[in-house]
Amino acid sequence: MHDVVVVGAGNAALAAAVAAREAGAARVLVLEKAPEALRGGNTHYSGGLLRFAFDRAEDLLPIVPNVETQVPGFMKGVQPYPRALFWDDLRRVTEDRTDPELAEILIGRSYDTVLWMARQGIVMEAAVSLSGIKVGDTIKWSPGAVIRAQHEGVGLSRMWFEIAARRGVEIRYGTGAVRLIQDQTGRVTGVTAQDAAGFADLPARAVVLACGGFEANPAWRARYLGRPWDHAKVRGTRYNTGDGLRMALDAGALAYGQWTGCHSTPIDAEAPPYGDRKLTDKTNRLSYPYGVLVNRRGVRFFDEGEDFQFYTYAKLGGIILNQPSGVGFQIFDAKVTKLLEGRYKTGKPVAADTLRALVDKLPVDRGACAKTLDDYDAAVQAGTFDPTIRDGLATKGLELPKSNWAQRLDTPPFVAYPVTGGITFTFGGVKVDARAAVVSTRWEAIPGLYACGEMVGGIFHTNYPGGTGLMSGAVFGRLAGTHAAGG
Ligand SMILES: Cc1cc2nc3c(=O)[nH]c(=O)nc-3n(C[C@H](O)[C@H](O)[C@H](O)COP(=O)(O)OP(=O)(O)OC[C@H]3O[C@@H](n4cnc5c(N)ncnc54)[C@H](O)[C@@H]3O)c2cc1C
Repeated sequence: MHDVVVVGAGNAALAAAVAAREAGAARVLVLEKAPEALRGGNTHYSGGLLRFAFDRAEDLLPIVPNVETQVPGFMKGVQPYPRALFWDDLRRVTEDRTDPELAEILIGRSYDTVLWMARQGIVMEAAVSLSGIKVGDTIKWSPGAVIRAQHEGVGLSRMWFEIAARRGVEIRYGTGAVRLIQDQTGRVTGVTAQDAAGFADLPARAVVLACGGFEANPAWRARYLGRPWDHAKVRGTRYNTGDGLRMALDAGALAYGQWTGCHSTPIDAEAPPYGDRKLTDKTNRLSYPYGVLVNRRGVRFFDEGEDFQFYTYAKLGGIILNQPSGVGFQIFDAKVTKLLEGRYKTGKPVAADTLRALVDKLPVDRGACAKTLDDYDAAVQAGTFDPTIRDGLATKGLELPKSNWAQRLDTPPFVAYPVTGGITFTFGGVKVDARAAVVSTRWEAIPGLYACGEMVGGIFHTNYPGGTGLMSGAVFGRLAGTHAAGG
């Protein structure tokens, strides 16, 4: 008999397993459906960025003690990100739909949980290539998106597996949970798992479900997200097929949150159909606030400068996927190409010395596209471009404005990056309480059952502030593990 069986081996699962050991559970077993070579879920593919609240720049020092060596002058460029700002961001991007109790747990425990991760041995660093913008000799940061795991998701996943091993957590690879076992009272008493040898029942005092959403299941995407989501490229693991949600719902769990919603980002149109272990998140194309985005009809369809990328990127993927052929083209001139994220280097842009020649090379309605770009250029106003703030440099007179960072496309050479929308994870989940216990359709906790990570419904709706998925996984994973251990 195990004390705690954790289903999944991503950030949420391993936080839960380590917390369960820390809270006194003697026998903790992690089931990973993927073979060892493909372990770690979406966490492996992630950028490792962690959004958390902190009141003073100095509060970061216990987390990144050597940061001034990595980034000289770091402390000078960092703005505090108090809880109230995190709240504002989460409320705004979810159109005020985030569950207030779950959001309070996430935000209120975010800083303490990052400290806990650092104490466990997760090494962190400044997220320079993701979020830093150099201004003179100082790096400025997108609010709240400052720290990431060293070596990004690959490093985060590796460090969690090392910590779990040191803590005596057993991990079984190639072993997927297929069913929850319940006794006559409804208590969850274990799982049925499948490995290469077949099915086996694994009794446990408590089970933590941490096995992701249904992003890698085209049938469920079609069922819950609708067209054209069955065609979406998957940015991460191919193993998150909704198994945990199915098992939990079968055991009487309450479905919760936005089941028609997902996190989805602009990625290279040539990205592979599932995440690539080496490329990881490098197919992302998130510098669109500095350019113009058109579809195959040659028209703009999104306010590229609505907000900083970390507040719009997670909804833009879906908006692109819904354009003709599911593609768009990000167009930049030479004034801004130095601002493009390093990740653009993994793609091959279409390039030309004049805007007209560039348009002629794109598979778009050329006449319409040329007119779109002319109208855009004519609508740009005089002002000072500043990528470190919402600079208010907006177009005037366009039906669809560009609200910030609008500059004329006037400096050759011009480049265009073809993009599509890649799905990251789904927002629909199960309801959990303040202990991360799964709530049933009778609105009572199901004894012995906990959930965390992408499986938690209710926090994200329509959109998402960058860096919150890993933070949510760590906060609710730690809670789930602690309570599953009886703590
Ligand atoms: C390309 C990319 C970049 C991202 N960048 C960031 C970022 O920088 N910051 C951020 O906060 N978030 C980021 N995210 C989102 C983040 O990765 C996820 O929110 C987070 O990793 C989810 O953690 P999790 O533990 O819930 O799920 P996962 O890490 O996906 O783990 C799920 C686990 O469950 C396993 N599993 C599935 N079914 C079963 C089963 N039946 N039995 C046993 N095991 C099973 C899987 O194999 C996997 O090990 C990114 C995601 C992607 C794909």
